[in-house]
Amino acid sequence: MEKIRIANARNLIITTGIKLLQRNLVAGSWGNISMRIDKDSYAITPSGRPYELLVEEDVVIVNAKGVKLAGTALPSSELLMHLAIYESFPATNAVIHTHSVYASACAAMHRQIPPLLEDTAQIAGGPIRVAKYAIAGTKELADNAVAALENANAVLLANHGAVSCGNCLDEALTIAEIVEKSAQVFCITSAIGEAFPLPAADVMQLRSFYLDHYRKRQRGE
Ligand SMILES: [Zn+2]
Repeated sequence: MEKIRIANARNLIITTGIKLLQRNLVAGSWGNISMRIDKDSYAITPSGRPYELLVEEDVVIVNAKGVKLAGTALPSSELLMHLAIYESFPATNAVIHTHSVYASACAAMHRQIPPLLEDTAQIAGGPIRVAKYAIAGTKELADNAVAALENANAVLLANHGAVSCGNCLDEALTIAEIVEKSAQVFCITSAIGEAFPLPAADVMQLRSFYLDHYRKRQRGE
């Protein structure tokens, strides 16, 4: 049973990696993906291996302290950030870190993405905030990402990229796509002029709707 759960998690990570490549959310071996298997084991992409070449054994299994339990490679250099998010947000079961172009542009400018569109409001409940800069792979970056996430599903990492969280990998992937689209629309509207913001009360309502209804649908209720 345990072996089947681990094999399933590894396969989900590999197929999600291919989707990230196909959707231009990452390039090469950049970015990283993880999911919670149970309360003390996690599957995460290996460090420095191209997504299209990954095989099951490459996906690393670690415990909550980051100790490797299985896998032929080193875990992603952003392991600390993934584990810090799982520890702080028990409802999060999947984390995807991307380097998509428009989200990275906003991250480079330290510009949070305002909720100009309903789907942005649904995943963030306000602007998609920017975590303070810290160099990749550090505990400081992990702490900054957790602090900026608060109760949102996504956050930008200053001068770096974006992080998207969900209760499963499919949700985290959808959120990564919404983050990139939101950043793109923000960049386009900023270049043309000024967008009309959504009313704050509607942003809150949209977020509540997402949390109540979208997640129930995901669970098949
Ligand atoms: Zn990165």
